[in-house]
Amino acid sequence: MFQTTQRRLTMQYSGLLMLFLVLFIVVVYTLLYIVILRDQHRELENLTRQETRIISSYLAESARNELQGLGSQELVLAGADQFFYYVTDTDGNFVMGSETMRHMREELFELVSGWVPEQNEIREETIRLTFDERRIGGREIDEAPKSDTVRLMIDGSPIFYNNQFVGMIYIGKDISFAYQLFQWLLIVLVSLMVLFAGVAVFMSYMMSKKAMGPISTAFHRQKEFVGDASHELRTPLSVMLSSIDAMEMTDGVEEDPFAQKLLRNMKSEVKRMTGLVSDLLVLARADSGVVERVIDEINVRVEAGNVIESLTPYAESNGISLYLDAPDELIVPGDRARLKQLMYILLDNAVKYSLEGGRVEMILSKNDRHWTMKVSDEGIGIDAADQSRIFDRFFRSDKSRTRTVGGHGLGLSIAKWITSIHGGTITVESEIGKGSTFTVQIPNEQAASI
Ligand code: ADP
Repeated sequence: MFQTTQRRLTMQYSGLLMLFLVLFIVVVYTLLYIVILRDQHRELENLTRQETRIISSYLAESARNELQGLGSQELVLAGADQFFYYVTDTDGNFVMGSETMRHMREELFELVSGWVPEQNEIREETIRLTFDERRIGGREIDEAPKSDTVRLMIDGSPIFYNNQFVGMIYIGKDISFAYQLFQWLLIVLVSLMVLFAGVAVFMSYMMSKKAMGPISTAFHRQKEFVGDASHELRTPLSVMLSSIDAMEMTDGVEEDPFAQKLLRNMKSEVKRMTGLVSDLLVLARADSGVVERVIDEINVRVEAGNVIESLTPYAESNGISLYLDAPDELIVPGDRARLKQLMYILLDNAVKYSLEGGRVEMILSKNDRHWTMKVSDEGIGIDAADQSRIFDRFFRSDKSRTRTVGGHGLGLSIAKWITSIHGGTITVESEIGKGSTFTVQIPNEQAASI
């Protein structure tokens, strides 16, 4: 139980830590992405603005109102990482330009020709590089870059002379390094995340262990107390029971109806108490995980017959008839005493919660994989809302009604525990006023120890 809770706590803690980690990484990455790209934008815009100004002032100086013939002038400065620049006239024809890779002019010019950028519009393009086949002096030109694609950021700006539109300038900037940076950043961040994920799981494990420590100690102490107390209580109870028996047979008491009544009441209460104490002892043992399970080959039909026989006088005194429907021999491996206790609990409940004249039936069957025990009654039934809770400790459905029949709400918890130590399941189907059927299913194979 504690291990499951600790595992769940570890998962929750580490899930939370990881969530923060992922959020942190996403924020850092996005911020860097935005900042770096914006910086590149600004640089490119500045470059375009500066070059536009240079061309305009040149036109003013030389009193020309057209760009044709400008090609010979070395006007345009090369900015950092500038991949190309082109100047076009009013019709979009090439006037002058330059690029890092001359043989790609046609392709690059194609990218920008005719493009009229809107206010502050900047384009991003990825181009595939082609390599110049020309050879110089028999040697291949060695300008092969690191990667064969280039990420370009392109800006364009109109050129005016005397408020008259004379052409366009386009500048392409190589921002591949920025994307390379993003890639590296991503790798570093993801590696960090994996590393911290391990740390987060470890920390969560330690934290949950610390959190569970006091709870687990308290629980164990309480379990020990229940176990010891139940043990200590049994002895005085059995002494009381035998004393009551002796008193009943004492001269004078036998003839006194009032004294007899008192002794009968005392006896029934002591018996009830003994039952409660032994139920608590079983559950305390179950909690401590010390399960003394003795697996034998048993004939469940015979055991069921014995349990029914011992319950018959009690059932008959309440006007209830018991039936057993089972094959002559039904041999299964299991703990005889525990399985008998399980049958006893289910049959006892079926009788307890039946009305006079009711019928209680136990059906046993077996197939290749498991054997089944069904205990049905035509009694008061269980409210649908309570059906999932009746296996909880001390739970008693409809207290006013169940109070009259005694019990402490521990029987079904024990039944569930016995089923589970045999690797089986217990379920209930019930309808108020119609009756209930409890079904226990236990695998035919039983491990020698659990
Ligand atoms: P107890 O019978 O001692 O109260 P159990 O754990 O055996 O405790 O059962 C829990 C509750 O489930 C009972 O109080 C009762 O309300 C309900 N219950 C169990 N068996 C039946 C049954 N056959 N018919 C109706 N109600 C039942």
